[in-house]
Amino acid sequence: MSVSPSRLAAISAANNYRTSKTVAFTESHSAGLFGKNVFNDKIMQQRLPKMAYKSLRKTIDTGAQLDAAVLDIVATAIKDWALEHNATHYAHVFQPLTGITAEKHDSFLEPDGRGGAIAEFSGKQLAQGEPDASSFPSGGIRATFEARGYTAWDVTSPCYLVENANGVTMCIPTAFVSWTGEALDLKTPVLRSMKALDVQAQRVLTLFGHTNIPMVTATAGPEQEYFLIDRNFYLARPDLFTAGRTLFGARPPKGQEFEDQYFGVIPDRVLAFMHESEAELYKLGVPVKTRHNEVAPSQYEIAPIYENANIAADHQQMLMITLKRVARRYGLECLMHEKPFAGVNGSGKHLNWSLGNAAQGNLLEPGNTPHANMQFLVFCAAVVRAVHRHSGLLRALVASASNDHRLGANEAPPAIISIFLGEQLADVFEQLKLGKAKSSKAAGTMHLGVDTLPLLMRDAGDRNRTSPFAFTGNKFEFRAVASGQSIAAPLAALNTIMAESLDYIATKLEKATKGKKFEEAVQDVLTEIARDNGAVIFNGNGYSEEWHQEAAKRGLPNLKTTVDAVPVIAAKSTVAAYERFGILTRRELEARRDIAFEQYVKAVIVEANIVTELVATKYLPTAIRYQTELAQNAAALKIAGVKADRSLLTKVSGLIAELQAENAKLAKIRQHHANGLEAEAAHLCDTVLPQLGSVRKVVDALEAICPDDSWPMPTYEEMLFIK
Ligand code: ADP
Ligand code: MG
Repeated sequence: MSVSPSRLAAISAANNYRTSKTVAFTESHSAGLFGKNVFNDKIMQQRLPKMAYKSLRKTIDTGAQLDAAVLDIVATAIKDWALEHNATHYAHVFQPLTGITAEKHDSFLEPDGRGGAIAEFSGKQLAQGEPDASSFPSGGIRATFEARGYTAWDVTSPCYLVENANGVTMCIPTAFVSWTGEALDLKTPVLRSMKALDVQAQRVLTLFGHTNIPMVTATAGPEQEYFLIDRNFYLARPDLFTAGRTLFGARPPKGQEFEDQYFGVIPDRVLAFMHESEAELYKLGVPVKTRHNEVAPSQYEIAPIYENANIAADHQQMLMITLKRVARRYGLECLMHEKPFAGVNGSGKHLNWSLGNAAQGNLLEPGNTPHANMQFLVFCAAVVRAVHRHSGLLRALVASASNDHRLGANEAPPAIISIFLGEQLADVFEQLKLGKAKSSKAAGTMHLGVDTLPLLMRDAGDRNRTSPFAFTGNKFEFRAVASGQSIAAPLAALNTIMAESLDYIATKLEKATKGKKFEEAVQDVLTEIARDNGAVIFNGNGYSEEWHQEAAKRGLPNLKTTVDAVPVIAAKSTVAAYERFGILTRRELEARRDIAFEQYVKAVIVEANIVTELVATKYLPTAIRYQTELAQNAAALKIAGVKADRSLLTKVSGLIAELQAENAKLAKIRQHHANGLEAEAAHLCDTVLPQLGSVRKVVDALEAICPDDSWPMPTYEEMLFIK
């Protein structure tokens, strides 16, 4: 008997890993790969007749309706391009309310009626698909007998090819709606919110005297954190592959306390994986830019350059899928769960967000003297007002059973949504409360004391990692977003609540006349917003107890769990904003709220199932075998006349009894059938989740004393450190 087979396999995988060159960045530059598998602007221009190209471009650039006449022409061009790249199938790719990507594949081949087949692809097939909608969550919007759902091509997000060893699939990004026209996906509200934001931002820019204003788009750059562990371990841990997180596991002797992992040298196997993932992502046109080691052992981060928010959301889904896919080629598993391991940091997704256009640039760019930059202040104040009024919604849209383990746990932002503006801007807002802002604290330079080092430009504000919503120079960074979730819903919310604030401001300003009067009106609205919404601005330590008390005094909601937060999805304030701009109706919002509860309930029940099962089939038998061994040892010693120390036997026996009792208790409370979804969720949150912890505590105590060679699951030490 020796160590566990999964450990041996993982050790051998780590030890015997040899570079196998699948991506030759050493020989060719990455630029040639970029967008290779995308039907992008350049290819459109090459392959489409001028008039069709112009028409399609107009739809993409201005949001105008697509001319039906060009559809067939575009479809033929896309088909020819796909077939030249050996595609056999096309797939409408959509994002149902499960939050993960769904795809329906169809072959290009159609029988020709004479025993052969030809490749067919019409405008209709490009523009519209019809997957059976009945098996996707609809939150009661649709009964199962009304199964029809439609996918509709999102013209603004380019088609792309997904390569597999045995073939190529041409993917079409689509929205997904029900037969009755209700949105059943995450993309539709994003598209609608982009439009609303454009319209309202244009009003404000017009007031500032701009003319011929190009479309204003939201931009997004999501930073993705993830864990990579050897796949042998992953497959040996049913909790990891079923629930996405470890539900058991004693603390390893070493965790992240040495702080030696963050930005550390990337291990060879991991770096090779990164190269290949990046190559795949380049081909798909995903502009990934940075990579580094994160704080926890075996945790990493990848971030793209920001893009149009809708495309960034699609790319973000592609990125998650690609990381998972490529990891397996390296014998690794990529974990996107927010808290796969207790005791070390979890993973998040920092969603960087701004808005701008081709003429005015980034509308959240303050320049060096923000106090004098009225237009910037208006857009910035609009964000402050939006987040203050809808902080509960932002919290609700990142809520999930898995993210609950991260938010508020002193490594991730707290569940209270506040805004960090930095010293300079916070000062400007303080001045605004009193009237006109007259000065901006200077940024300046920093001398490093060594003349060979360059003079560093010091930013006007430091970073604040404890803030859930931080201004970082020329964009806001929403840090409470979950690592495993789609960024679509938070994005749609940011765009919508921003549109609402811009609408409010534009309406006020439109009443004022031009010239001096206009400046005064801007001044007044800024002062009003700073006074009414300044409570959401907080530059201090978001982890501190004082902040929790202070936030309560300021009336900021502290929605600690998913159960507390989710109702805000369909609250009056949300419905008002979403209905005003035609983003989602009350019914659609209520459906989304119910689905969020449903997902929560299912997630916790699955975890409870796994815990009871693993205790019964793995942990208890292991402990009982050890108990028997100890008992036999005691008996043998007695016969041999040696005085036996029975303390270990007593301890193990005590833990076995405790484990049986706790597991029985879990099985009992899990049976509870509450009245309705919300009550069920509350029961799971308040009663079942803590009980999972109680069971775990006993198992972890056993892990610390049972023989290593018979322990049935890979340990934290193995999973986090063998690489
Ligand atoms: P950090 O958060 O460490 O300061 P960066 O400044 O590199 O990192 O930015 C992080 C992310 O923010 C990147 O994905 C970047 O592209 C994105 N970003 C930068 N500017 C904008 C913008 N105007 N709108 C949206 N995202 C942006
Ligand atoms: Mg960041």
